[in-house]
Amino acid sequence: MLLSDKTAVISGAASARGIGRCTARLFAEHGARVAILDLDQGASREAAASLPGSGHVGLRCDVTDRGACLAAAEAAAEALGAIDVLVNNAGITQPIRFLDITPENYEAVTDVSLRGTLYLSQAVIPFMRERHSGSIICMSSVSAQRGGGIFGGPHYSAAKAGVLGLAKAMAREFGPDNIRVNSITPGLIQTDITAGKLTDAMRTEILKGIPLNRLGDAADVAGACLFLASDLSSYLTGTAIDVNGGMLIHG
Ligand code: NAD
Repeated sequence: MLLSDKTAVISGAASARGIGRCTARLFAEHGARVAILDLDQGASREAAASLPGSGHVGLRCDVTDRGACLAAAEAAAEALGAIDVLVNNAGITQPIRFLDITPENYEAVTDVSLRGTLYLSQAVIPFMRERHSGSIICMSSVSAQRGGGIFGGPHYSAAKAGVLGLAKAMAREFGPDNIRVNSITPGLIQTDITAGKLTDAMRTEILKGIPLNRLGDAADVAGACLFLASDLSSYLTGTAIDVNGGMLIHG
């Protein structure tokens, strides 16, 4: 049990096959009580009720809305008693080419990943600061590092690259408060974000570029989240962990 007596807030964690939900389950299996935040109240509550153990809560929170983030952080802190871990996981993508990106596309995609990470972190950090302890995990993407994944458009790459910069700046500013901030850069993970869009031909082509010769599962990313949330990573801050099967190997 790596998270006994710990509490965690995870955004975008209602989606049944998603990274957030899988992370919530793994955290709960390791003893944590979890607040699941997502767009729909009913879906968030249902997801929280499906977790092993007790004391979990599901809350409605659109992370692009600063007031909603403040209210959700307050409600989570009250229900859980404290917030030890925040996973900024909510994100959307659009497979659109550069010249076709409209202002609405740009805002939709950057708002959830980048503005959402800013607002929810701003809402949660005061609770962590008070207790001089915290771990924040920000969900970026291989798309930020290689200028496009497979499904994300350039605005998605930009949003996820922005997340990396924001996380590093938070790591620097809140290190003295003993709040660690790290990112994860997943490769292609089989969730509903890509569901139905991956043809067999595409899969074969994509696998040629993945040394581990398989697409990722939500559990692969959840494991990295667990490491970053737990004391096993107590001297890591400002880092980005690649969970991509070798799709991108740095020089
Ligand atoms: P998913 O679609 O299963 O889950 C995303 C969740 O975010 C959904 O539950 C959705 O309702 C929620 N959400 C969307 N907008 C929101 C908002 N404004 N406020 C609160 N919640 C909101 O997708 P996933 O694959 O599990 O993605 C999780 C994260 O991982 C995302 O940030 C995504 O960009 C990132 N990621 C995914 C992959 C992949 O291949 N699946 C790769 C790299 C990064």
